[in-house]
Amino acid sequence: MTNPAIRSDPEKLLRQVMARFVDQEVTPRAREIDERGEFPQELFKKLASMNVFNVRYLGMKKGATGNATLYCIICEELARGLVSLAAETAKQCLMGTNFLYRFGSPELKEKYLEPSMRGEMVGSFCLTEPEAGGDLGSVTTTAVDDGDHWIISGMKTWITNAPIASYFTVLCQTQPGKGIRGLNFFFVPRDTPGVQVSPRFDTLGTRTTEISEVAFNDCRIPKDYLVGLPGKGMGAFFAILAEIRTMTAALALGVARAAFDASFQYAQERKAFGKTISKYQLIQAKISDMATDIWAAELMIYDTTRKLDQGQRVDKESMMAKYFATEVACRCVDQATRILGAYAYSMEYPVQRFFRDARFLLYGGGTHEVLRQNIARAMRF
Ligand SMILES: Cc1cc2nc3c(=O)[nH]c(=O)nc-3n(C[C@H](O)[C@H](O)[C@H](O)COP(=O)(O)OP(=O)(O)OC[C@H]3O[C@@H](n4cnc5c(N)ncnc54)[C@H](O)[C@@H]3O)c2cc1C
Repeated sequence: MTNPAIRSDPEKLLRQVMARFVDQEVTPRAREIDERGEFPQELFKKLASMNVFNVRYLGMKKGATGNATLYCIICEELARGLVSLAAETAKQCLMGTNFLYRFGSPELKEKYLEPSMRGEMVGSFCLTEPEAGGDLGSVTTTAVDDGDHWIISGMKTWITNAPIASYFTVLCQTQPGKGIRGLNFFFVPRDTPGVQVSPRFDTLGTRTTEISEVAFNDCRIPKDYLVGLPGKGMGAFFAILAEIRTMTAALALGVARAAFDASFQYAQERKAFGKTISKYQLIQAKISDMATDIWAAELMIYDTTRKLDQGQRVDKESMMAKYFATEVACRCVDQATRILGAYAYSMEYPVQRFFRDARFLLYGGGTHEVLRQNIARAMRF
């Protein structure tokens, strides 16, 4: 299927380049990489050499956002091949490096951001705590003012890329009792004394993504490692939240397309009761439901990215896109497991991986229970 929402020449060209990269270098190796369950260092470096990591930062002027449409095309195409590679890339382009890019000193940028854009360092983003998931107002990791330094203490969990990260952007409370108004982000290099990274978690899907806990035990960091304006941490986070949600929707679209493509092909090859199963109306219904869902998700996502690129606020649209596209991905992978019959249950076919990986998208960028509540609120319901 071609994406009707992609219009300009640079978008079409980027789509072609990414699609070729995925078809030639990712899809043929996705099973082996997933089974090994290690961070795909070689592909990550290759993406850096293709200048993928700084796509949001190219030509980005003070106060302006990066190009969300190009960014989402990259995320979508990579997710079509391997969701975990797409998620690692998405984090490197946005949450892992954004506070460093926007608020880091020239020295910090030279030491950490530039090597990150070359794929030599990996950044990670630490919000979640054992007792604070969606409810960020309950974050208890503290940053205490100690003259020329901050002292960071607390525990973060479910941190993507933490086992291989060179640095962490950490959400901390600076004014206990103030809830989200006391939250700020801090830059903590991994080699800071007191940083302790747990062994990686064993997870259902996205198995090449290394996830773990990170403990910050009285970590002393310089005063200018507060990345953002004091007391405005959540404002800076909300500035990229719509993009995080739209990007998550693009990852979902990629995996939905992968499930569709596998089903479409299989249904035309598999014979049952003397005909290919594509001739049966109930199989046709599944294919048409998947295609309709995918088209709707594409239109929502790229309508949202265009508004983002025009500098418009898309709080509601990005929540709707993330919620809808992720549900589409879950529906499409479910349909694919039915169309492929027993072969969907075999580790030899990729559909089981799409099925496992799609679940990952349900959590980041807001759970659907919270998003649906917030969509209703955004309509002043
Ligand atoms: C693969 C993976 C990678 C991740 N990577 C990162 C990362 O890099 N950095 C990071 O900081 N975090 C990361 N996370 C954590 C993720 O952001 C959290 O899982 C998410 O914020 C939800 O928090 P929780 O899982 O603690 O659920 P909770 O917030 O505890 O929610 C549990 C359940 O209660 C529901 N619920 C909660 N509040 C409400 C409400 N008000 N109304 C109705 N229902 C409600 C939720 O929808 C959910 O169903 C990752 C998670 C996963 C699975």
